[in-house]
Amino acid sequence: MAEYDYDLFVIGAGSGGVRASRLSAQFGARVAVAEARFLGGTCVNVGCIPKKLLVYASAFREELEEACDGYGWSVEGSHFDWATLIENKNKEIARLNDVYARLLDEAGVELVEGRATLVGPHRVEVAGRRFSARHILVATGSQSHRPPEIVGIEHAITSDEAFYLHDLPKKVIVVGGGYIAVEFAGIFHGMGAEVVQLYRGPLFLRGFDDDLRSHLADEMIARGIDLRFDVVPTRIENVGDRIRATLNDGSSLEGDYLLMATGRLPNSIDLGLEALGVDLGPYGAIVVDEYSQTSVDGIHAIGDVTDRMNLTPVAIHEAICLANTLFNDRPMKPGYEAIPAAVFSQPPIATVGLSEAEARVRHREIDVYRSTFRALKQTLTGSSTRNLMKIVVERATDRVLGLHMVGHEAGEIVQGFAIAVRAGLTKADFDQTIGIHPTAAEEFVTMREKVTDL
Ligand code: NDP
Repeated sequence: MAEYDYDLFVIGAGSGGVRASRLSAQFGARVAVAEARFLGGTCVNVGCIPKKLLVYASAFREELEEACDGYGWSVEGSHFDWATLIENKNKEIARLNDVYARLLDEAGVELVEGRATLVGPHRVEVAGRRFSARHILVATGSQSHRPPEIVGIEHAITSDEAFYLHDLPKKVIVVGGGYIAVEFAGIFHGMGAEVVQLYRGPLFLRGFDDDLRSHLADEMIARGIDLRFDVVPTRIENVGDRIRATLNDGSSLEGDYLLMATGRLPNSIDLGLEALGVDLGPYGAIVVDEYSQTSVDGIHAIGDVTDRMNLTPVAIHEAICLANTLFNDRPMKPGYEAIPAAVFSQPPIATVGLSEAEARVRHREIDVYRSTFRALKQTLTGSSTRNLMKIVVERATDRVLGLHMVGHEAGEIVQGFAIAVRAGLTKADFDQTIGIHPTAAEEFVTMREKVTDL
């Protein structure tokens, strides 16, 4: 008789948990996964997937305007119906939930419905049932956080609710300057709502390359978003069926909703972790070693709950490494160098490798290549939008350390170049690559002039 019910018990069927479950099962492990809410986790249900669908929906307005402005189209009587979009989006999510259930089933992973807690180093309990496992993996993700210090914060919505609003708001106040705030500001604006975005510092998207940050700010302002820096709400209240926010500069704003997008917190509370001696770091993030092992033998953690780099593909990468380490006799540490990322703002930004400021600290002697230009598509539209593309190069070795873009399809473009940056290719390698003409992406292989104002 087996010593444990399972070789691996996974808590949380999000992107990381599902991949770890399926791959471990493929390697021959007996696996169960517990899920209390929805299959696919944040990314599928209230994150990447519905967000991108909403971004697509909202971008059509600008595209229609451009088609009519410069390309000879006339589109009579077009209008946008929020309810149709949300209904279609919900159907797609339900389809994906089923796909996840089928994938787990086909991999031979047992799905246990309910909230799991750890009741021993190798024991979990779900809805009154107890299970034992050689390894336990905590992949419980993160949740939206509303800063409690703001009076009336309960009146604010988070991105979770934003995906299910009954009607398209006429005016939205977005608070925050990270991924979610910037993306939702663009979504609501594109759909026709008036948007005010408030950020507490002097320039949003802290951590991204400074040129990207300021270029995007200019683009968003030019599109009509009321973007305000160095300002935060101190009080939020309901006024009839609207929201009023009092700001730290004494002024006030009203809107239909106030969306708080001020970060997410690891889902590590009430799982029984502390009682077992699992170390938690700041804001409850589970502390893990390079192999995603917690401070307690046999308990592992991946994804947002560890607060390493909170991106779906990174959680999946951590899952693949862990499954190989535990069940494929191939210890693998997740790597965090040159991970590409995109913010699906409008226009989108994408990045891989070091920002100019980071490169300057780590490598001192660098060269920067930067280009801002009007894309061919815009030459007929009269639009003032401009692309920004930038390459950061280590002078001593000619290696490309970072590559950054603001502009249409930035994510699609930078994904390809991320391979080159990760592979450590040089600026000479870029220069020797022939461009595809006419594209915006070819700018990355044709930039020759170094920025001199450094
Ligand atoms: P982020 O951590 O990206 O941004 C949080 C923002 O809120 C920052 O601008 C921060 O300011 C600000 N903030 C934090 N606390 C307060 C406060 N008390 N008052 C006012 N402002 C505050 O979090 P998000 O919620 O945007 O996203 C969570 C994570 O989800 C991201 O880190 C990202 O990893 C992931 N994500 C990825 C996406 C993608 O890949 N496209 C899309 C959406 C989310 P400051 O910078 O000054 O600290």
